[in-house]
Amino acid sequence: MNNLSMSVQYIKGVGPKRASSLKKLGVENIDDLLSYFPRDYEDRSIFTTIKEAIIGEKASLEVEIVGQAQISRPRRNMSILKVPFKDESGHGYLVWFNQEYLKDKFVIGQSYRINGKINRIGMEFQVMNPVYEKMNKENKVGKIIPIYGLTKGITNNEIIKIMDSSLKEYLSFTEETIPDRIRDKYRLIGIKDAIQNIHFPINSEYLHEARRRLIFEELLLLQIGLFMIKNKSYEKNNGIQFPPCTDLEVFLSSLPFKLTNAQSRVLSEIQQDMDNIKQMNRLVQGDVGSGKTIIAAASMFRAVKSGYQAAMMAPTEILATQHFESLSPLFNKYNIRCELLVGSLSQKTKENIVDDLKEGKIDILIGTHALIQDTVEFKNLGLVVTDEQHRFGVKQRMIISQKGNNPDILVMTATPIPRTLALILYGDLDISIIDELPPGRKEIETFAVNSQMVDRVNSFIEKQILGGRQAYIVSPLIEESETLDLKSVEELYENYKNNVFKNYSVGLLHGKMKASEKDLIMEEFKNHKIDILISTTVIEVGVNVPNANIMVIYDAERFGLAQLHQLRGRVGRGEYQSYCILINNGRTKIARDRMRIMQSSTDGFVISEKDLELRGPGEFFGTKQHGLPDLKIANLFRDLNVLKAAQKEAHDILESNPNLDGEEFIIMNKRISELFKGIDSIN
Ligand code: ADP
Ligand code: MG
Repeated sequence: MNNLSMSVQYIKGVGPKRASSLKKLGVENIDDLLSYFPRDYEDRSIFTTIKEAIIGEKASLEVEIVGQAQISRPRRNMSILKVPFKDESGHGYLVWFNQEYLKDKFVIGQSYRINGKINRIGMEFQVMNPVYEKMNKENKVGKIIPIYGLTKGITNNEIIKIMDSSLKEYLSFTEETIPDRIRDKYRLIGIKDAIQNIHFPINSEYLHEARRRLIFEELLLLQIGLFMIKNKSYEKNNGIQFPPCTDLEVFLSSLPFKLTNAQSRVLSEIQQDMDNIKQMNRLVQGDVGSGKTIIAAASMFRAVKSGYQAAMMAPTEILATQHFESLSPLFNKYNIRCELLVGSLSQKTKENIVDDLKEGKIDILIGTHALIQDTVEFKNLGLVVTDEQHRFGVKQRMIISQKGNNPDILVMTATPIPRTLALILYGDLDISIIDELPPGRKEIETFAVNSQMVDRVNSFIEKQILGGRQAYIVSPLIEESETLDLKSVEELYENYKNNVFKNYSVGLLHGKMKASEKDLIMEEFKNHKIDILISTTVIEVGVNVPNANIMVIYDAERFGLAQLHQLRGRVGRGEYQSYCILINNGRTKIARDRMRIMQSSTDGFVISEKDLELRGPGEFFGTKQHGLPDLKIANLFRDLNVLKAAQKEAHDILESNPNLDGEEFIIMNKRISELFKGIDSIN
C-alpha cells in the first residue's frame, strides 16, 4: 500500500475530530496534506534591534530578560503584563493583555528570541503579544512561518505541528514527477526539497525555488493533460467532411460589405476544418463589433448547401432574435429555411418547429438554451455555432453537439484573452482571432467624469437625442441599497422619466424582468420608440442598435475593465460619432487607472491584459467556470511567464512522445490522470 494514500488519521496528533476539520479543507489522505500549501507566510527570520525596529511592524529580536514581570489592572476585566528586557541597543518591555499566566514563564538573565508588533509609548519601547522561545529552540522565531487556510476546529499552530510530523515521517515516500533532464533544463529543485520548503522554508531563496518548481509542475501537468485530451478527441472524433462549396463566394458577394482581411482569414481557417474529416472544435475570438456573426452565417450556409442542418445558440432571447432577424433574410434568398426557437414562443409554434426540424424541413435553427432540450431533434445536424461562449458551459456545448453525429463546432466569443491563457482556458479548442474591425468605424470617444458633472452629461445626452440619436444609461444595481451608495436603476429611471427627460421616451430594462418584458423593451428601443434606455448590465451582450450613440455608465469604478469594454461596445455600431461617459467616484488608484485605460484604448485585447495586471483574474477567468481542475499553487495570470515555459515544454514533450510512454513519465502520467479525475466535461 502506498503510504501517501493513507488517511491523515495515521499521523501523530490527528484524531477523528481534527481529521474531520482537515476533511473540510479537502485534506483526507497524507498526500492531500503534503500538498495543502500555505496561503501565506510570516517572515520572522530577519532579526533587528530595539534601535532599528520599525514602529507598527512585526519584528524579531534577541533579548535578555532583565527584571520581574509587572502586572497592572487599568480596568475591570483587563490586565496588562509587562516583562522588561534589553538588547545591545536599548531597553524595552514584552507586553500582553489578559495573559497573566505568562508572568512566571521568564527567567531573569536568560536570553530569548521574540517576535511581535513593535509599539512605542512615550519613551517606552514595547513588543506586543510576542511569540517567544529560548535561544536554542529555534521553533517559532527566526524562521519563515507558514500560514494555512483554516476552518473551524483547527488552528494554524495545529496544522504546523501535524505538517511537521507528517513531513518527517512521509516526505521520503513522495515520488519525483518531473524527469531529471527537464528539471536540469529549467533548474528546478527536486520534489522532496520543494515540498519541505514550501511548508517550512529554510530561507526566502529556498521558498522562492520551491514555489517556482511547484508552479511549473502544476502548469506543466495541466497543459500536458489538456493537450492530450485535445489530441485524443481529434483521433477519436471523425466528423463530417463537407464537400467543396462554390456557392460560398456567391453568398459572400451578395453581402452589402466586403469581409475584412481578418474575417477572410478566420473564415478560411473554418473552411479548412470543414474540408477535413476531423471534427471541428474552433473558437473564434473577436472584439465586439468585429463581425463574427457573418462568419458564422457563411459557415452555416456551407453546411446547409452540403445537405446538413445547422444550429446557432445564443445566451439570451434578445440576441437569438437579433441574429434571426438579421440572418434569415440573407438565407431566404437562397431558399434556405431558417427558424427561431425561443422559450417565449407559443406551444403550438414550438411543436411545429420541432416536427419540421426532425423531418429536415428546417435548415437552420437559431435559438437559446431551448435548443438543447430533449425534445429538439435534428435530422442531420452538421454544424453547431454557439455565440458568446462564456455564457455557456462546456457541458451545454457537448449536449447540443450530441444532437448530431459529431457535428463541427464553432464557438464565438467577444471576450479577448491573451493566447497563452486561451490555450489553457479553452484547451480543447483551436483558436482563430479576428483582430481587425470593419473599416469606417469611428473611434468611440470616452470620458471619465465625477458625479458633479451629471447635469452637464444630461444636457449632452439631450443634445444628441434632439439630433435623432438614442442613449443607454447603465447602473450597477437593481434595487435601492442602503449600504452601498450606488444609484439603483429604478431610482435613476424614475428621476430621468419624471424630471430630467420628461419630454422624451425613457425605458427601463433589468435582469429581474420577465424575458418577454425585456424583449418588448429592447424591441421598442430598436424601433426608436424609446430614446433613452436605463438598464443594468443585461444589455452587455451583443445587442445591436446602430442609432444609439451614447453609453453612460454610472458608478463606473464598480465594473471591471472587461465589462466596461463590453458595455461600451453597445455603441459605435452605426455611422454616428459615439460617446462613452464613465461617471465615477473612484478615489482609489486602481479606479483611476481603470478610467485612464478606458479613455486611452478601445482595443479589447489591450484592455483585458491591463485588467489582468490590475486586478488579477477575477471570477470570470476562474478555472472552475471552464471546467478545469483547481489549481493549488499556480495562478494563471500572475504566473504567466512560467505558464509560457510550461506550455512550450508540454508541447515539446508530447511532440516526441504523444502518450507519455516510458519509465520517466510513469509518475507524471499518474498525476495527470488524478488531476483530471472527475473532470468529465472536457473529455
Ligand atoms: P460581433 O463580432 O460583435 O458579433 P457583429 O457580427 O454583430 O459583431 O457585427 C457588427 C456589425 O458590423 C454588424 O452590423 C455587421 O453587419 C457589420 N459588419 C460585419 N462585418 C463587416 C464588414 N466586413 N464590413 C462592414 N460591416 C461589417
Ligand atoms: Mg455577436
